[in-house]
Amino acid sequence: MIPRFPELKVLRAADPDHLKAPSTRPVVAGGVTIGGAAPVVIAGPCTVESREQTLGIARAVRAAGAKMLRGGAYKPRTSPYSFQGLGPEGLEILAEARAETGLPIVTEVLDPRLVELVGSTADMLQIGSRSMQNFPLLVEVGRFGKPVLLKRGFGATLEEWVYAAEYIALQGNLDIVLCERGIRTFANGAYDRATLDFAAVHAVRQLTPFPVVVDPTHAAGDASLVPALSAAALGLGVHGLLIEVVLPGVDLDQIRCDGRQGVTPDVLQMIVERAAREAAVTRG
Ligand code: PEP
Ligand code: MN
Repeated sequence: MIPRFPELKVLRAADPDHLKAPSTRPVVAGGVTIGGAAPVVIAGPCTVESREQTLGIARAVRAAGAKMLRGGAYKPRTSPYSFQGLGPEGLEILAEARAETGLPIVTEVLDPRLVELVGSTADMLQIGSRSMQNFPLLVEVGRFGKPVLLKRGFGATLEEWVYAAEYIALQGNLDIVLCERGIRTFANGAYDRATLDFAAVHAVRQLTPFPVVVDPTHAAGDASLVPALSAAALGLGVHGLLIEVVLPGVDLDQIRCDGRQGVTPDVLQMIVERAAREAAVTRG
């Protein structure tokens, strides 16, 4: 049984009788509709590392048929000694990639104080898995008003994820896209990095009107798993996929964040073609 959370005032308003699943509320980000019948592929580097790398991947992502460009200018890193992203310079590079390719930008914001800055470039603000319960950040992106991609915390229950969305919605911003990116289980490290929780994808669709996308990349941790996880997600009728890309021939050891899990543009194209053959589960 899918639980109902009685305190969800804003989300309940979208589903007043509580008897049937809420209709899908499409989100338009930079002119791209997420939550319609066609699944949307969002792709790009994990991190904006240089102008050349990001523009090269942006061109390849566009040629492969993806509809939005992702890439982090601010990165949540386990170690404070790891590369933290290029910051404002990264945002400028993303803006240049959008100007050249026409692809709208999805990029992460980590700090409530930076919502205005990151939001001035982003077409959709990403809340990363580690920030899902950063409540001041949720309030700030709710107030800012641009579409939000809310990743599920890798240790978050369904209830915690849905209440995080409620924090944003309570500020009047209903342009929320939910993203399942895998949770921590005993399996991790043996063959994946996080376990994609497909049941949660289905359950959260019963509870909220928001489009749901899947990030197979961070669950996989290795590029070889990404096509199969993408196919499984599409089979479940998700509204989109978030996929990391590397350029062919690059030295993966030189990539400063998440190199081994990025697919090459030819693989991305196969995933995009598969997505074009699938229809998302959308309730009207
Ligand atoms: C990312 O999208 O690059 C990222 C850091 O993802 P997550 O927050 O899901 O770990
Ligand atoms: Mn990444």
